Amino acid sequence: MPLTIEAVPVLETNYVWALHDGSRCVLVDPGSAAEPLAFLGDNGLELTAILVTHHHRDHTGGLDEILARHEVPVWGPRDERIEQVTHPVGEGGRIEIDQPSLSLTVLETPGHTTSHLMFHDDHHLISGDTLFSIGCGRLFEGTPEQMQASLDKLSRLPDETRIYCGHEYTLDNCRFALQVEPDNTALQARFERVQRLREDGRITLPSTLAEERAANPFLRTRKPEVIEAANQREPGTGKDPAAVFGVIRRWKDG
Ligand code: ZN
Ligand code: FE
Repeated sequence: MPLTIEAVPVLETNYVWALHDGSRCVLVDPGSAAEPLAFLGDNGLELTAILVTHHHRDHTGGLDEILARHEVPVWGPRDERIEQVTHPVGEGGRIEIDQPSLSLTVLETPGHTTSHLMFHDDHHLISGDTLFSIGCGRLFEGTPEQMQASLDKLSRLPDETRIYCGHEYTLDNCRFALQVEPDNTALQARFERVQRLREDGRITLPSTLAEERAANPFLRTRKPEVIEAANQREPGTGKDPAAVFGVIRRWKDG
């Protein structure tokens, strides 16, 4: 059976991603245990591995309780703050899992945290809190230069890549992005779709890299419209993508 990817909502806004083939399942970023454990039970799925993008509690808080019931490998950053990781991986590393059949490449994406990872294959990107739909993570432990370089790693991935990020932030992100680019028609269209989805209580993910490239200001720091907006906000910013990124990020942090 081909891979199915489902979101298990936990905490206020987090999604634990469940990647499964109908019988075996990999969980991503279990910030809580009860909901993903119930998901496994309700769907008759056997847990075979856990992936972790970064150390924040809302992505790791469920690990101990899940691991107490399921002794499975945990793939994640080499970082002493995530002591449950059994299979540390870094830039260019591969995650090979038999069931469900998964072969993912690791990207190191410092910015939100120093050791944040993203995982991808030709069709999927698990982006944690580095890239959100129409937004990106706050710079808790990194610089605009680092985050710009982390997001630039996505330039190699195809437009059709589907994006599975860590939080349901898309609606708020659209509202902010419209301040930066009020005339961006792709963004206006995405905002309308996202508003309708949220009114119906539905998830806005996955998005695609094409949608993000068209509407996410943090992936558009080389576009004249975004450069112009950054320079209006902070005169003298210039055109350097990391400088533009820094202005947009500070603007959003308000
Ligand atoms: Zn985080
Ligand atoms: Fe988070």
